[in-house]
Amino acid sequence: MPTPLPGLPERVTIYEVGPRDGLQNEKATIPVEVKAQFIERLVAAGLRTIEVTSLVHPRWVPQLADADVLLRDLKRADGVRYPVLVPNERGLDRALELGVADIAIFASATETFAQKNLNRSLDGQLLMFEPVVRRARAAGLAVRGYLSMCFGDPWEGQVPIEQVTRVGRQLLDLGCTELSLGDTIGVGTPGQVQALLGSFIDAGASVGTLAVHFHDTYGQALSNTLAALQAGVTTVDASAGGLGGCPYAESATGNLATEDLVWQLHGMGIDTGVDLTELARTSVWMSEQLGRPSVSRVVQALSQ
Ligand code: MG
Repeated sequence: MPTPLPGLPERVTIYEVGPRDGLQNEKATIPVEVKAQFIERLVAAGLRTIEVTSLVHPRWVPQLADADVLLRDLKRADGVRYPVLVPNERGLDRALELGVADIAIFASATETFAQKNLNRSLDGQLLMFEPVVRRARAAGLAVRGYLSMCFGDPWEGQVPIEQVTRVGRQLLDLGCTELSLGDTIGVGTPGQVQALLGSFIDAGASVGTLAVHFHDTYGQALSNTLAALQAGVTTVDASAGGLGGCPYAESATGNLATEDLVWQLHGMGIDTGVDLTELARTSVWMSEQLGRPSVSRVVQALSQ
């Protein structure tokens, strides 16, 4: 019997990142049919927002070089959103040609990561994203802005909260319809989470436009999620089976596992629309495709 904790939302939207963020750093090429089946199984398990791939140049992310084929052949279900990561205007052109309705852009909260990941300065990245967001919105697309390194950066250490808020605010001002605050190296703790969310709300951001993206590198992802829910956030990123590490965090356990998140939410009586048994089965199937067990504690517990 679920036991509610006061002050939390009745329903949480899970933004599933497994097929993109989860698989993008896999070394062995995964057949496009397996990716499509993975996405279809996630839909069958009740997920309603699934980031499916990235239209980045194949040189940078070889695993997602099949994005065009995947987007062309994927069977889509009614009421499901299938966002695609778009790095620049060329990616947006491809997204528009392929009939994509939801895109995401990936920005950095720190100068060093903006340089390393985007070859841009902190302000320069916004110049690059401005036409992408403007044209996407004019075409009727929803645009999610990812903001990475919000709670710490492997080169710069702790990141000033004012800086994170300023860059995130700029992304919302460009026209992003949602902003996902990422703890890319998984170092954040709950007090930091509530302080950052409070700073965004003080800066005029509506809490309904904010999402959180936690990594479990230091075992803090679920605690941080609970802190975010207490602050009013209702959209949480997670990756089925905990797929995906961060290449910048040594030995990173990566994304918060969707199953671990669902276990916590359902335990508190919060609706997600997800069938946990079906989802865990999907992750077991995917782990067989990848040839190693899922890192999700809930997947492990349920498949004993
Ligand atoms: Mg991630």
